[in-house]
Amino acid sequence: MELKFDKYNEFRIKSLFGRYITNESILQLTEIPPYSEAGKSSNNLPIYYLKLGSGPIKILIWSQMHGNESTSTKALFDALSYFLHIDKKHLSDFTLHIIPILNPDGALLYTRENFNKIDLNRDASSLSQNESVVLRDLYDKIKPHYCFNLHDQRSIYSVADTNKPSVLSFLSPASDTNKSETNSRITSMKVISSINKELSSLIKGHMSRYKDDYNPNCVGDTFQSLNTPTLLFESGHFDNDYNRENTRKYMCFALITAITSITTNEYKKIDYSDYYKIPENTTYLSDIFLRNVLINTGIKEYRTNISIMYKEVLDISSNKIKLEPFIDKKGLLKNMFGHFEIDFTNNDGIFKNDDNLLNNLLKNIN
Ligand SMILES: [Zn+2]
Repeated sequence: MELKFDKYNEFRIKSLFGRYITNESILQLTEIPPYSEAGKSSNNLPIYYLKLGSGPIKILIWSQMHGNESTSTKALFDALSYFLHIDKKHLSDFTLHIIPILNPDGALLYTRENFNKIDLNRDASSLSQNESVVLRDLYDKIKPHYCFNLHDQRSIYSVADTNKPSVLSFLSPASDTNKSETNSRITSMKVISSINKELSSLIKGHMSRYKDDYNPNCVGDTFQSLNTPTLLFESGHFDNDYNRENTRKYMCFALITAITSITTNEYKKIDYSDYYKIPENTTYLSDIFLRNVLINTGIKEYRTNISIMYKEVLDISSNKIKLEPFIDKKGLLKNMFGHFEIDFTNNDGIFKNDDNLLNNLLKNIN
């Protein structure tokens, strides 16, 4: 595949930035085709839909089913810009049917769930929510040849038994409890393997795959079980990039690769067993990991490891996401690592195990 990743700065949509991406953010874009409305959300916001290309291969793509998972949405727009401005030759091969923000209420509130506090990715069989019905109706109408299900994953995800953050994760969802290797699953596995192959030199060791337990309430599993090859894409965290702008770039490359590989039939040359060679996800990471902190309980002193996580909170006044640290767990925390780590082994400071512990620790690491 001849992919022009080196032109990323030319086609990246620069007006989309940061974690807070809403209907308003995407309405301002002028670089892409106009939207129509696929339907209304639970709180009556428009669910926008757009189409790119005029070819016979139909790919249905949706993002932000979880409202606070915006990185893949930014990546998706970058990828559309690539096909519109850099590599136009496939526009007559494919038609991309796109819902960039399936859960606009959750996006506005910066929540995973929709306005009714329902996780849309557990609503695929009951279809109790407007958003679920909109997606299912579009699927039934379009009859896509492929589905791309776009998400963000939390910063806890690591790659197998390493301390490497999982920047990108994928899944070819199961279509039944036996995890049968159906044609649809195998096709998805091949496309994911072609992404892994194309990107491995760029983010070596930072790609992983999800476990494939079947859940009929998940949208991906449902479409896979209807024999439409379906791929789950997850944008992860790396280093100090809390805006996930770096991850966005690699997710964009993954989307471009998947669409090009499908369009050119490149993926058909791949042995699907390559999929199983992609390491599985683990959850060994925390945002800040403190080793061997000396704690005094009033009765005894001991050293322990402390995992600090950030809660992402929407600040309405600035329309930005603020990171609020909290102590997630303490203890041996075997196998755990941090995106940021400090070893207190040679630090003789004694920390009281009280309500001020977090503040006192943070003073020591800033
Ligand atoms: Zn998600």
